[in-house]
Amino acid sequence: MNDFSAHRIQSSGSPGGWRDAEVVPISALQHYAYCPRQCALIHVEQVWDENIYTLRGRRAHGRVDTPKGMTRDGLRTEHALPLFSDALGLAGRADAVEFEADGTPFPVEHKVGSRKKGGLARRADEVQLCAQALCLEEMFERDVPAGALYYRKSRRRHEVAFSSALRVETQEVIRKTRGLLRVRRLPPPVADARCPRCSLIETCMPYVVERLGDGEPNDETP
Ligand code: SF4
Repeated sequence: MNDFSAHRIQSSGSPGGWRDAEVVPISALQHYAYCPRQCALIHVEQVWDENIYTLRGRRAHGRVDTPKGMTRDGLRTEHALPLFSDALGLAGRADAVEFEADGTPFPVEHKVGSRKKGGLARRADEVQLCAQALCLEEMFERDVPAGALYYRKSRRRHEVAFSSALRVETQEVIRKTRGLLRVRRLPPPVADARCPRCSLIETCMPYVVERLGDGEPNDETP
């Protein structure tokens, strides 16, 4: 059994020390960092609406969700690698992890569309990637200084350095996401520029809910 197989078997259960309900899915961090209400709709209310972005995303991930490893030009890549962190109570899966010659993991998360110009959408992707790095550091007992977001439409990589600021922000998002999943309450809508691209806009009805004043001010906005 190689290191990768061993880690896959270890990671098939819940991270130790956490009750199942407390283990935060890594994907929920990206949803929370984009919009806490979106996170609650998906991970508490179990709502998922398809739109053109999610359909493209599913198709993109369908190609990388089958566990397999390959080596090309001396670079080992593991696809669909299960991830966990006992320390942080996280679990998920990496689209791809490249292993440099010295064994340093380099996570690569696949995204549909072109590289986001910035703002919360890109930051949410970076938080998700950083959470993967925190898991890999614990699993392989190695520093993971960087990773990449791969945008399928533009076929370009955006390299992300896991700075202290990003690590702190990611841990804060983990804490807040766990709190949201624990209270299982739907935050009010953000009702801003995030909504038109959100797959849940039909279900969420952000502008209607906001007009009716149905909900407290959104102090959960990252
Ligand atoms: S429509 Fe807007 S408020 Fe509703 S979940 Fe999406 S981003 Fe959040």
